[in-house]
Amino acid sequence: MPSASFSSSRTFRRSKRKGSNRNNSDAYEPPNCQNIPAPSVGTAPGPSVANSSTNPDTSNPTTSNGSNPTIPNTSSASTASSSVLATTTSVSSSETLPSNSSGCSSSASCHHSPYDLRKKSPMACNSENWLGCAGTSTSTTTSSTCTSGSQQSSTTSSHNHHHYSTSSNSNANYDYLPARKRPRRTYSSTETSTTMSAAHYLQYEMPDEVLLTIFSYLMEQDLCRVSLVCKRFQTIANDCELWKRLYQSVYEYDLPLFNPEPCKFLFMKVEDCEFSNPWKESFRQLYRGIHVRPNYQDRKYQGRNISYFNTVQAAFDYADERNAANNIASAPQIGAGMSNVNGSNLSVNISPGSPTNDDNMSVLDSPGSLIFLHAGIYRGEFLVIDSDITLIGAAPGNVAESIVLERESESTVMFVEGAKNAYIGHMTLKFSPEITSTVPHHKHYCLEVGENCSPTIDHCIIRSTSVVGAAVCVNGVGANPYIKFCDISDCENVGLYVTDYAQGTYEHNEISRNALAGIWVKNFASPIMRENHIHHGRDVGIFTFDNGMGYFEKNDIHNNRIAGFEVKAGANPTVVKCEIHHGQTGGIYVHENGLGQFIENRIHSNNFAGVWITSNSNPTIRKNEIYNGHQGGVYIFGEGRGLIEHNNIYGNALAGIQIRTTSDPIVRHNKIHHGQHGGIYVHEKGQGLIEENEVYANTLAGVWITTGSTPVLRRNRIHSGKQVGVYFYDNGHGKLEDNDIFNHLYSGVQIRTGSNPIIRGNKIWGGQNGGVLVYNGGLGVLEQNEIFDNAMAGVWIKTDSNPTLKRNKIYDGRDGGICIFNGGKGVLEENDIFRNTQAGVLISTQSHPVLRRNRIFDGLAAGVEITNNATATLEYNQIFNNKFGGLCLASGVQPIIRGANKIFNNHDEVEKAVSGGQCLYKISSYTSFPMHDFYRCHTCNTTDRNAICVNCIKICHQGHDVEFIRHDRFFCDCGAGTLSNQCSLQGEPTQDTDTLYDSAAPMESQTKENW
Ligand SMILES: [Zn+2]
Ligand SMILES: [Zn+2]
Ligand SMILES: [Zn+2]
Repeated sequence: MPSASFSSSRTFRRSKRKGSNRNNSDAYEPPNCQNIPAPSVGTAPGPSVANSSTNPDTSNPTTSNGSNPTIPNTSSASTASSSVLATTTSVSSSETLPSNSSGCSSSASCHHSPYDLRKKSPMACNSENWLGCAGTSTSTTTSSTCTSGSQQSSTTSSHNHHHYSTSSNSNANYDYLPARKRPRRTYSSTETSTTMSAAHYLQYEMPDEVLLTIFSYLMEQDLCRVSLVCKRFQTIANDCELWKRLYQSVYEYDLPLFNPEPCKFLFMKVEDCEFSNPWKESFRQLYRGIHVRPNYQDRKYQGRNISYFNTVQAAFDYADERNAANNIASAPQIGAGMSNVNGSNLSVNISPGSPTNDDNMSVLDSPGSLIFLHAGIYRGEFLVIDSDITLIGAAPGNVAESIVLERESESTVMFVEGAKNAYIGHMTLKFSPEITSTVPHHKHYCLEVGENCSPTIDHCIIRSTSVVGAAVCVNGVGANPYIKFCDISDCENVGLYVTDYAQGTYEHNEISRNALAGIWVKNFASPIMRENHIHHGRDVGIFTFDNGMGYFEKNDIHNNRIAGFEVKAGANPTVVKCEIHHGQTGGIYVHENGLGQFIENRIHSNNFAGVWITSNSNPTIRKNEIYNGHQGGVYIFGEGRGLIEHNNIYGNALAGIQIRTTSDPIVRHNKIHHGQHGGIYVHEKGQGLIEENEVYANTLAGVWITTGSTPVLRRNRIHSGKQVGVYFYDNGHGKLEDNDIFNHLYSGVQIRTGSNPIIRGNKIWGGQNGGVLVYNGGLGVLEQNEIFDNAMAGVWIKTDSNPTLKRNKIYDGRDGGICIFNGGKGVLEENDIFRNTQAGVLISTQSHPVLRRNRIFDGLAAGVEITNNATATLEYNQIFNNKFGGLCLASGVQPIIRGANKIFNNHDEVEKAVSGGQCLYKISSYTSFPMHDFYRCHTCNTTDRNAICVNCIKICHQGHDVEFIRHDRFFCDCGAGTLSNQCSLQGEPTQDTDTLYDSAAPMESQTKENW
């Protein structure tokens, strides 16, 4: 800092300098200013007293000093301390002052010691040039520092910010000494010769609080002038409270408002500001403004040159004239009527760390006029804005609510070509056409942005009672507004309408409770909309149609009466990270050739489907969370298409994805789970390519395919459902390839009623029931599947079904390999059927399959059993190494044998047991049904349900009335102990289980129509 010329001549404590003194006991006592009357500068100058600074009760140092405990409370010693205030003169000296930071223990201390010159903020306004009263010699500037936080917000003025310790050396500072320890002022010999004039007294001896009081009567220009007198004056003239009152008298805001760049205004809390005096800085930045303040323009003060007008129009006219004049003369000043005595610019230099000169962004660089609109209702103002005008509301409290611009017949505010950096902010805009008016208002709006303009609309409340059109209309090529923090609500029409190639950025707006859509986008308009809150509309939330485009990010869209987001007729929006929820119909509705990219949205809790796609629409739905819908997750119908990829779809009341009526989407890599209905439901000629999804834990079928549908499902994982894995019924077709289907409560795959799918290369395992169930006329080709570890039959063919099974591996079943019952047919070719607990192939009850070139081996019971009036055609099968026997035929069964079947190396343990005199029960227990001769004993049981093995008949029922029934599958009731006699061969009684096998019919899920 070039501050040497202001170094102090005083000599005391010069050993403590440059921050070396950390002794807290050396603190100065700050002066007390408790009872200084402060004028209210909001009115004409006069000695009115601000109550806020006269309350002695608030002088408690524990509150006022806060974190600066080294400054004692001196409320009772103000007069004593005032005479010894550390003040400095402009007397030159090579000495620097002792420095001290005991009162400011950290970098944050600049908020504690307001006039600590050493703590100059880099953001300080270092030049008074903005007010036109700069002294060019003031190369060193001083920043006073506001107290922070609660200290500043307090108006009690009991604070240490009335302690004016000034220093000419920016690196030096005085200690705060208690009064009794403070050395008396001693002047050097050169000073003692100075005349103790009035000026001297004023400059050096006048107590700070008195000076402060005097200064409080000054306006901004004079304040800046006196700050040029000396360092002490400068410090005191920078008092935060002084400037706060000045600022609020002119601008009325509760907080400092900053204008860091054109079209950008920010309110900041004082404690969040980096400016040493936020009020003064704000004052400075806004000073170029002119004011619309009705009944105020006659009040002119000395020391102030601010223009006031009664109407917006008058202010506009004035601004236009002045701008025109400036353009002609290339005058360097656009100060709002402010004289600028030394010709320097009105600096709005506010960038942190910027140089102290005013070469930075001067007003000249921010063209356009700044107009403050003070509280009031402004009707009939004609606001067609075609220049870079800045119009901002000015009021305490909620600013926007206090300023109302209202019109009844034409658009309230219109921006047209030329309004490039125009700004309108912090006010209410109303369009209120009379209900009885016959004038059509559909071409009029509350806010209208036309071609080739890019205004900023900020923090406005926008209301329209027109029942047609929209509240806000942005239309035409080059319409590119920035609309932010606006509240567009309760309008009797559309909230925001963007059309005809318009663009613009729309952020943080509240758009709610409008009678029509919250937002319309059409005809190649392409807005950027971020973080808007669009809710409780009486129509759709956002409606893009007729080739509307746009980018929509992080909007919260909810509780709209129709869909949250609608896309129609060639519209192609991008919707990212939005939350679309609690709609009274669906979440996203894409129809009539709609497109769009929907990425990473959260779509939930809607009354209808989360996403609807229909009528040749083809959107991309990626990485969304689609959950808790009151109906389905994604619903594609009426020739809908779409790419549905990487979504997490769960907890919906109906199907996670529903594909219907010749729709043909691509569904990939989704997780579809925990639905209260099925996972994927394809019906009414639905199609679709469904790949690599994980479908699990759904209440009904994982995938349902029905009524002429032909989807292709590849490489999906379908598991852990509470019913069937994949369910084909009522002419459900399609391809099921390379899927993992496991751990279902019902069958892994179920085919019925005319369904004829191709099922190839799947793994079907771990079911609590069968692997595949084909029944009620089901068809299908099952090729090269692995079917294993199911609790019941690997494949069950029943009731007039006729599937083809080729080259499947059916193994490790906890029951039979393939069971064919009740008139089942089927062609079984080249399958390997092995290691199953029951028969490799069991053919029963009027069934008649064809078995060709199968290998049936290593079974834990028989290889092939045929019983109950069934038959079979057997060609070139190999049946070997099975425990009970190879081919076991019940009485009367006569299969058609063509070609040589090889039946070998079977263990025939049934025959061995009988030969050894054992009861058959010993090898079967009640869990399997060896085939052998069975008898009935009329003596022991007259029903036809008992079956007794030949050895028990011989031994246990010797002499009884017995009858040979036939050769068939049974277990011995005598050995099982279910008869009245005691079995001599087996003995141990067990429960009646003779119907176990047949009674465990496969569970068949029912269809549940829902749409
Ligand atoms: Zn027996
Ligand atoms: Zn008997
Ligand atoms: Zn017996």
